[in-house]
Formats: sequence, structure tokens, C-alpha cells
Amino acid sequence: MQIQFLGGVDTVTGSQHLLTAGGRRVLRDCGMYQGRREDARRINSQLPFEAAAVDAVVLSHAHIDHCGNLPTLARSGYAGPLHATTATVALTGVMLRDAARIQEQDASYLNQKTNRRGQPPVAPLYTLADAEQAIQLLRGCRYGETVESAPGIRVLFQDAGHILGAAVNVFELAENGRRARVGFALDLGRKNLPLIRDPEIMAGLDLLVLESTYGDRLHDDAVRAEDQLAAAVTKTLARGGKVIIPSFALERAQELLYHLTALIAAGRLPKIPVYVDSPMAVAVTRIFQKSSEYFDDATLAVFRRLGNILQADWIHFIESVEDSKKITAGREPCIVIAASGMCEHGRILHHLKHGISNGANTILIVGFQAQHTLGRRLVEGERSVRIFGDWFERRAEVLVLNAFSAHADRNELLDYVRQAAPRRIALVHGEAGQRAALAAALQRQQSAPVHVPANGETMAL
Ligand SMILES: [Zn+2]
Repeated sequence: MQIQFLGGVDTVTGSQHLLTAGGRRVLRDCGMYQGRREDARRINSQLPFEAAAVDAVVLSHAHIDHCGNLPTLARSGYAGPLHATTATVALTGVMLRDAARIQEQDASYLNQKTNRRGQPPVAPLYTLADAEQAIQLLRGCRYGETVESAPGIRVLFQDAGHILGAAVNVFELAENGRRARVGFALDLGRKNLPLIRDPEIMAGLDLLVLESTYGDRLHDDAVRAEDQLAAAVTKTLARGGKVIIPSFALERAQELLYHLTALIAAGRLPKIPVYVDSPMAVAVTRIFQKSSEYFDDATLAVFRRLGNILQADWIHFIESVEDSKKITAGREPCIVIAASGMCEHGRILHHLKHGISNGANTILIVGFQAQHTLGRRLVEGERSVRIFGDWFERRAEVLVLNAFSAHADRNELLDYVRQAAPRRIALVHGEAGQRAALAAALQRQQSAPVHVPANGETMAL
């Protein structure tokens, strides 16, 4: 019995782990690696295993760094089941179709450039047809359910407390009378996030594979998110400005709607228009509206009291480009939630282009901003930024709200390990500094032996 650490090991994207027992192979996640274009193309197009030799796939959640390379897997000959929770199945459909569209657009953009230089055309990493092929393989289950993914490899789905439908998984492997229990806390969420329940603690683990994204960082408590949001909006409205929020379409946008509705219903904010200007966020929100069985008790109580808060009458879902343009041109105070979350593409760029030079406006940062993105440049306080090739002076205020995060921070990771009490720990999903810091902190709290695997490493179980 063994585990191979194949992706998302010393980096936070491209999560892939392969478990083997009794000659059967089960892949946990097939995420897309995100980074420089050429690295991403090379890593994502060459799977580090034979796709047709995999017996089953277990999918943890619908974030693209965990599900985004499933179309490549399907195109490479994998035709077995993809097990995931019912919410993840629904969300993954939206995410993969969108990812395929981006891959196709990206290839056609590159080909327009290379045609001029007489080079051979590039093919997209995958197409919409490949994505549809993967989507066909998805099979839904519930939290608490154990699935026999292959003979000798059973998997339990428990709530990760990360995003809607996200699971931590316990794999029970059996071979020649021997057994091993391997838990995956990738991605691991945090307590007190809106809408979803808190992370469940996995038990009886021989090995815990744990993320270390924030192995050396602390977030503000998630319960402070609403207060931080109220303060930022109030300050902007007093100036007569707009609040422009770059947001991931999945989960963060719905969290924002939840908080804004709660604040407006409580009279802590006036009834100002809230625009969700992202067709993908609209599609994802519709899935949330049908997924109340995944909500926590506090959310269900709010829904009973206020009705469907993801559909309040001050929330406007914008799909057409014409409607989007009307909002960018409008001068009235409002809140705009638009993708992409790191301001790299999508409609947020139009809102920034029209709003960034107005000192009354606020750009509210509520998510992780990777290096070399426009979002990171805004966080770093740059006064002059380029949007669609033109330079703009930034006069709008940039506020960073640190209570928004769907990942456990260092103390939350340490706490999870204390409660799960595994026999061994493998740290993945983190840059070198974060992994080393978390390993040291775990040793200080005298938890189980900690291993920091290399990418591609195999560990016997
Ligand atoms: Zn995630």
C-alpha cells in the first residue's frame, strides 16, 4: 500500500495524490496547476501517471486547483467514476465549463499572435467537449457516506468547512490482511464561516495529509468579517462612492451576499443596490439556493427569519454585457461584486477602469492575491496601474479585509491536528517557508512525526 504525492506538494495549486492498495489505484483530486503560462501548459498536459490505469477518482471540492485538470484526465483515457458530494458535482460542472472556455480562448489568442510569426498553432489544454466528458463521470454522495471506490479502497466523505460541498476524506486501504487509514485535509476550512458547517474531525488516522497554505500566518477570526465589511461600506457611502469588490465567483461572492443581507436586514447598512456582475457567480449562487442541506444551523435560522437571503430585493444579478456597462457608467453609490478575484480578467477590470481614479470609491480586497496580479499591485499600494493597456492613477481607497479566508490559518491547523491525533503527518500544499514553519510548530506541540514530501515522492503505508 502506498501514497504518491504528485501535485500541489510544494505549491498550493495542482492537487493530485494517488493511493494504491492490492493493485488498485485511486486518485484523489486532479487539480489544475496555476502559474506561468509555459509551466502550466507543460505540467497540466502531462499527467504523471497512466490515466487508463486509475480505477476511481475521489474529488474533494470544486475549486479549480482541485478539479481543474479532470478534462485532461478524461481525454487521456480515464472513464471510471468521479466521486464527490452532490454539491461538488453541481459546482464542478459550472467550473469546468468555464475553465474549458478560458482554455479555448487562451489558445485562440496565442494562435492569433503566433500566426503572425508563422509558427504552428497551439491546441487548448482541453476543450468544452473534454470538460463535458469529465462531467459525465461525476457521481454524487453525501457527507457521512462511505464509498467503495475500488476493491480494497473505501473512502469516507466528511465536511471540510471550506466551501459548499467540500470534503475531507478518510481512505481505508486493505491489502493482504493489512489496513491503513489515510486522511486528506486538503483544503481544510475554518470555524464560523457563513453558510457552511465547521470542519469535521477525522479519526483513527495512520497518516494525515495536511495543507500548509497558511502554515505561518494568522487570519482575523471569521466572525469579524461582517463588522469589517460594515465599516468599509459605511465609510465609502459617507463619501458618496461605490464599493468595488473583486471576488471569486464560488463561495466568496455568496459569503458577501450573506453578510450584506444580514447587515441591511439588521439596519446596520442602508438598502443600497448590490450588483453581482458575473455570469459564473450567478450560476453558482443558483446552486447555493438549491443546497440548503449543506447549510449550518445559523444560516438556516437566518433563512427562516429573512427568507432566501441570496435573493433579497436589493441584490441584482447581472448577466448581459449591456446591463454590466450600465453599472460601470452609473454614478450612484452601490456595491459591485465582480470576478475575477485577483483582477486578472473578467468584468472587474471594467469596473476598476471606470472607478479606480475616483477618490470617493473603495476597492475592497476580500481574497488571496497572488504575486504578479493586478490585485496584488493594488494591495501593495501602487498609485499607478495598467488596465487594458492604459495607465490609470489610483485615487480610490484600497482596503484589505483579513477576516475573509476559507483556509485554516496556522493556529487552526495546529488545533485540527491536536483533535485528529494522527500517527503520522505529511505536509503539502504550501510554499517552502510555510511548510517549514508549520512543521516546526507541529514539532513544538509534540504531535506525531511530520514528513515534508518532495513532489513525485512515494510513501509506503
Ligand atoms: Zn479550495
